[in-house]
Amino acid sequence: MKKFRDRLGAMKAELEALSRATAETRKPVTLDQQAVGRVSRMDALQGQAMQVETESRRRRELVRIEAALARMEEDEYGVCVACGEEIDPRRLDHDPAAAVCIDCAGK
Ligand SMILES: [Zn+2]
Repeated sequence: MKKFRDRLGAMKAELEALSRATAETRKPVTLDQQAVGRVSRMDALQGQAMQVETESRRRRELVRIEAALARMEEDEYGVCVACGEEIDPRRLDHDPAAAVCIDCAGK
């Protein structure tokens, strides 16, 4: 259990650090006609859109991790939220934030 708590904590810290480190790259692209040409402006817009997408993926992952930590507080960690069966420890080993057992995940 402690192992999973530590890993979830580390995953969370890493996501938050990445989020901070890339904050600048998600800012709206400034349309400075003189500084950049049309092509590089398209590149900049594309790059920014990709960063925004990556960030929203990170946010979803953080929500999953926080939910798993909350289940630990409630002593419900490792129990499938869908069917109430225990989640295979190997599954948790692979994904400590897993909320459902392999059967429910497959449904
Ligand atoms: Zn289940």
